[in-house]
Amino acid sequence: MTDTESTNPACSFCGIEKTPQTPLIAGNHGHICEQCVKLAYQVVSSWGRRGTQTEPELKTPLAIKEFLDEYIIGQNEAKKTLSVAVYNHYLRLKFQDKKEDTQLPVAGAISDLVELEKSNIIMAGPSGTGKTLLVKTLARIIGVPFVIGDATTLTQAGYVGEDVDSLLKRLLEAAEGDVQAAQWGIVYIDEVDKIASRGSGGANMRDVSGEGVQQALLKMVEGTEAKISKSGRREGGEEVTLNTQNILFIVGGAFPGLTELISKRLAPPKAGIGFSAPIETETEISNEQLLAALQPDDLLQFGLIPEFIGRFPIITFLQELDVDSLKRILQEPRNALTKQYKQLFNFQNVDLQFTDEALTFIAKEAVKRGTGARGLRGMMESMLLSTMFDLPSRPELQRCIVEVSDGEADSQVLKVREEFSDGEVREEVLPTHDMLDAGDKGATESSAAG
Ligand code: ADP
Repeated sequence: MTDTESTNPACSFCGIEKTPQTPLIAGNHGHICEQCVKLAYQVVSSWGRRGTQTEPELKTPLAIKEFLDEYIIGQNEAKKTLSVAVYNHYLRLKFQDKKEDTQLPVAGAISDLVELEKSNIIMAGPSGTGKTLLVKTLARIIGVPFVIGDATTLTQAGYVGEDVDSLLKRLLEAAEGDVQAAQWGIVYIDEVDKIASRGSGGANMRDVSGEGVQQALLKMVEGTEAKISKSGRREGGEEVTLNTQNILFIVGGAFPGLTELISKRLAPPKAGIGFSAPIETETEISNEQLLAALQPDDLLQFGLIPEFIGRFPIITFLQELDVDSLKRILQEPRNALTKQYKQLFNFQNVDLQFTDEALTFIAKEAVKRGTGARGLRGMMESMLLSTMFDLPSRPELQRCIVEVSDGEADSQVLKVREEFSDGEVREEVLPTHDMLDAGDKGATESSAAG
């Protein structure tokens, strides 16, 4: 303390003396200049990236499931299975990483621990039931880079199209070039049930290379050192090696007929069962029961090679969404469609409401269309288009109610009722076929009342 006061203080790191242009920060036993602070910050940041950023925060399966619940309606079995699988995956990586990173034994004798194999996941479920949404939401909660690929557009290296390695390139991009982070990432490949032919004589070109694509994917799933050129660089740019061993692979597909096939095995037909819509019986057989009855041959018939199936030990089923679930999807998730449109209308000082019957009507239409929840946005958009067109130029519009009213011959129609501040009420009827054909919005009739 006294020696720093006696002479002109200098930076303890680089030696530069204190001047009016070079102020120093004093510590207990020394000083530091601005340049050295900046340099030290850079060094410390690079430690941070290595130490914490790439390692996903481990949340319990319960916490993961609760997060998923905020965005995904139903599919409880799938949510549970995925939460556990993903938790175990990252738990395994965490310990493996610690073992590699430190010389000290972690939690006792980690070297004695058995080698845990990676648990890649197959998700089987009809289109629009939330497979992609589930994986996307999972990647978000864990905070790892995530990429989606479509098996039907993948080709073997050397063929025209997106080759398998391009998935890894995209993963690296998602990780902003951080190789370590990419190696902890999740790759989701959709439509994997369409990857190969089922032996029929279809002239689909995809069939020709289907097995080749599976072999290429298999290599990647098993763990390989892939050479990836970093994007954004000029030719001859940096090439990095990405080890795929710890990447979690999740594949999804509709696997049409798979659950029915297994359900049949599970539940021999009983005499006296009355008819009930298949959609209402869907929750009767649980994921666990389906899994227990699943046999490898069941997946082989979708053209998947046994080695490929073998690399995906976890299988989960997503159920077809029924009217009730679709109604909940319209209202409950954090970013539910009705909430989104309400917000949009709210920005323009219009109160948007949906009656319960209207939501049921929309959900039923979605079931008829067979697009699952995927069709809901298109329907909402077509339904509200004309109102949204008028809205900004009609400041007197106060309230908008989407409701159901009786149409001709016992049929019901969906109606948008617009209420203006001067008492005017406009009603716009949306015929069912118009909703089914979301592209044709010209046919809506409008009438003025009151
Ligand atoms: P899939 O991958 O099974 O074909 P997606 O996950 O792409 O289906 O679903 C399409 C859209 O439908 C999602 O973005 C989401 O808005 C909605 N959706 C589907 N299933 C659900 C669900 N179970 N809960 C909430 N929204 C869903």
